[in-house]
Amino acid sequence: MFMHAGKPMRGQPQPARDVVAVLPQLRVSHHPVVAHKLTILRDMTTDSATFRHAMTDLTVCLAYEALAEMRSTPTRVQTPLEETDGTMLGERFAIVPVLRAGLGMVDGFLTLYPSLQVWHIGLYRDEASLQPVTYYNRLPGLATVDTCFILDPMLATGGSAVKTIAILKEWGARNISYVGIIAAPYGVQRLVDTHPDVSIHVAALDRALNEDGYIVPGLGDAGDRLYRTSGDFPPSTDHRE
Ligand code: URA
Repeated sequence: MFMHAGKPMRGQPQPARDVVAVLPQLRVSHHPVVAHKLTILRDMTTDSATFRHAMTDLTVCLAYEALAEMRSTPTRVQTPLEETDGTMLGERFAIVPVLRAGLGMVDGFLTLYPSLQVWHIGLYRDEASLQPVTYYNRLPGLATVDTCFILDPMLATGGSAVKTIAILKEWGARNISYVGIIAAPYGVQRLVDTHPDVSIHVAALDRALNEDGYIVPGLGDAGDRLYRTSGDFPPSTDHRE
């Protein structure tokens, strides 16, 4: 694959949004609360504190939708008045935030299900080649859960997602889902081509990648916006700081 120096996506063919939108592995949320929170994330005037908050809220919604596929187990429960039938989630599961932007989605999942396991995989995207580079892996020795949810807000070229899934499969994970905020058609197609068994849950499927590999319209660099690591973001509006 030829890559233009400094503009890694220049000249790269990209699949049309409409073609990717109908792939059965892709689940794009249509919930109005998701659309509302996503608009806050996209807005370039949103400060980092508000951005982090909106990402957590949005992740609660996406986690709720992703967990709809979970197996549940019947149980009995004693109410203050009598015993009745109940249901508990019947699977052990973990979230795997891809450092660092994936950390912005952890609290959302933990809010919904506080006892899940959290494992970390660190990948960064080499900006020249757009290839993922692994720098951290804290998976336990043995796979101890039924399902893993990979958290990474931006499914752009798909490189990090493909690599993380390969690491998890080699380690022994059986069911794997990807949960992100925004996907590009290119990343979805690549993920589905490489790992067709993985379902993809996102708030939006955007138009394309630009020449630099950023999703458009997108929300910019998710890690920088979460952690204020670029100088050009609006100052915090919270004057109590
Ligand atoms: N990573 C981001 O944070 N944003 C993009 O648009 C693409 C990759």
